[in-house]
Amino acid sequence: MGSTGLPARASRTARPRSEAPNAHGLDVHIVGAGNSAGQAALFFSTYARSVTTILCHGDRLEKSMSRYLIDQLATRPNLRTIFGAEVAAVHGDLSLQAIDVRDSATGATTRLESGGLFIFIGADAETAWLAPEIALDQRGYILTGSDTRGTGRWTLDRDPYLLETSVPGIFACGDVRFGPVKRVAAAVGEGSMAIAFVHQFLRDAGANEAKRPAKRPHSEAPRNVQAAAG
Ligand SMILES: Cc1cc2nc3c(=O)[nH]c(=O)nc-3n(C[C@H](O)[C@H](O)[C@H](O)COP(=O)(O)OP(=O)(O)OC[C@H]3O[C@@H](n4cnc5c(N)ncnc54)[C@H](O)[C@@H]3O)c2cc1C
Repeated sequence: MGSTGLPARASRTARPRSEAPNAHGLDVHIVGAGNSAGQAALFFSTYARSVTTILCHGDRLEKSMSRYLIDQLATRPNLRTIFGAEVAAVHGDLSLQAIDVRDSATGATTRLESGGLFIFIGADAETAWLAPEIALDQRGYILTGSDTRGTGRWTLDRDPYLLETSVPGIFACGDVRFGPVKRVAAAVGEGSMAIAFVHQFLRDAGANEAKRPAKRPHSEAPRNVQAAAG
């Protein structure tokens, strides 16, 4: 989608609650077919003149959206779905005025008047900047706990803590962590768990330090060393 240089108000990402009142009387378009897109479409349909959900490549909502949402969408007369379509271009000066929608099968493009374009196509893990010692899965999510085992990078005798990365003492939590649950409540809970693991890690480190033989000050060097020096 060539949205570079779009006016600030032309394209929005995932803020339906605050943006919906501004959509009053406009035609609004939503890109995506997951539950987030469905929830946004329902919400916008209360304010907008019409709401269109555009599926980038799909041919059925059932593949990606919950049944309860599909059923609710069907009850809204100002809401429709375009299957097998993708946004090819956006148009407007100070604000969005129209979008070009391309039919994935035929390549034909249709221009639609639009007062708002909202994108719900998920998120990627931005982890390319991490040190290579921190093991990632193929999609860039950070491996933690027992998932680090297969990577061969875990070096300690003890098992990694649940949220510990392949580098002892570095923890990951929330969406960036490899795992099936991508929810606010999970991210918040994992954040507080990570703090507890940090405390545990520091306690362990302190205990290990205490077990090590104490270093002798210079003046207490072993006699044989003093003898050799003298
Ligand atoms: C469209 C959409 C709809 C959703 N709807 C729901 C919902 O209805 N209910 C629900 O429970 N969950 C929902 N989620 C999921 C929810 O948003 C996430 O699970 C939650 O926000 C994860 O929190 P987080 O702190 O792990 O990550 P984020 O909220 O993504 O926060 C990560 C933060 O780190 C910052 N960051 C990234 N890289 C760096 C860096 N190198 N240095 C410093 N900062 C950096 C980012 O800018 C961001 O502010 C939705 C997600 C999306 C994308």
